[in-house]
Amino acid sequence: MALKAEKLKVDGYETVLTAEDSSVGLKAIIAIHNTHLGPSCGGIRLLPYRTQSEALEDVLRLSKGMSYKSSLAGLGFGGGKAVIISEVSKKTPELFARFGELLETLKGRYIAAKDMNVSTEDLMAVKTTTSHVLGIEGVPGSSGDPSPVTAVGCFEALRATWELVTGKPDLRGVTVALQGLGHVGWDYAVRIREAGGKLIVSDINEPILAKARTELRATVVDNNAIYGVECDVFAPCARGAIINPETLPRLKCRAIVGCANNQLATPAEGQTLWKKGIVYAPDYVVNAGGIINIFVEYEGYNRAKAIQKASAIYDTVKTILRRAEKEKTPPFLIADKMAEERLYG
Ligand code: NAD
Repeated sequence: MALKAEKLKVDGYETVLTAEDSSVGLKAIIAIHNTHLGPSCGGIRLLPYRTQSEALEDVLRLSKGMSYKSSLAGLGFGGGKAVIISEVSKKTPELFARFGELLETLKGRYIAAKDMNVSTEDLMAVKTTTSHVLGIEGVPGSSGDPSPVTAVGCFEALRATWELVTGKPDLRGVTVALQGLGHVGWDYAVRIREAGGKLIVSDINEPILAKARTELRATVVDNNAIYGVECDVFAPCARGAIINPETLPRLKCRAIVGCANNQLATPAEGQTLWKKGIVYAPDYVVNAGGIINIFVEYEGYNRAKAIQKASAIYDTVKTILRRAEKEKTPPFLIADKMAEERLYG
């Protein structure tokens, strides 16, 4: 059976394409939100969505998010995203190769990369049928693991935020409560430690906690206790919606700077943080190192250049926080406003 593709008209989006090929178990949606700044780029997410509308809602939200993230990072990328509706156990190279054929029809207006449940091997299969895919670790010219670059961006965001909060850029003696010592969280923690900061950490992975005790001289706390510890900065680096009505009243920090995506459960939490005087550095600005790394691959990869570009997150965060003070508006709304100013002129 051939690939069947259909365009959906969705207000505010340039292209939304649904596609199906039951012979390989492919059911996918690609959303191109905006290509004003350049080709749209974003990961392929594979999940067993319960319904087509749930998948559509996710891809629309995520592709728009990518437009905003790339815009604020100053990149020549627009926002796009793809979702494949499948059980992880059912993915095959044939499915990804057929998905690549679908990508090819978009002639480079959407460039795919890795996201949830999509591996390097899966991207290799996509690459057999299209060249519009980036971030395949191990192939010549690849940008490799983006996490160290993302960690640089987080650290620069932390420096900028702390400077705005205290007037001093110095992180010596600053206590950071960091949840999630994974690919990004660990590197971020190392940088904090090297700058003289103190760490309180939590994770669900015991061996990494033992390593943090010895190598980072971190204080380890229970994963639920991390929200209530006395600290200067809370750094969510594990999962989303972590700032919610249950955790927010427990926070005893002056600022939040972490790499996790979608930290605010709803915009209401962003407003509450603002009212409480807790400075929230918007997640998609802090963690833009990942897309910056891919953009540098698109231009011709050079890790030094990627790190240099990610370091500019320092200036972006400062600008956002200064404008937030001046306009008496929470930083997460200022970030959106600044992204839109560049996107729509
Ligand atoms: P990872 O899977 O390597 O690390 C996540 C860590 O969090 C692991 O150590 C895991 O054990 C821990 N963890 C998982 N669930 C937890 C829980 N409930 N409580 C405490 N700890 C928990 O992931 P990563 O690549 O480091 O990414 C972390 C976050 O940053 C994710 O939200 C990701 O989407 C976001 N992000 C990552 C990048 C990147 O370059 N890797 C870029 C942008 C955004």
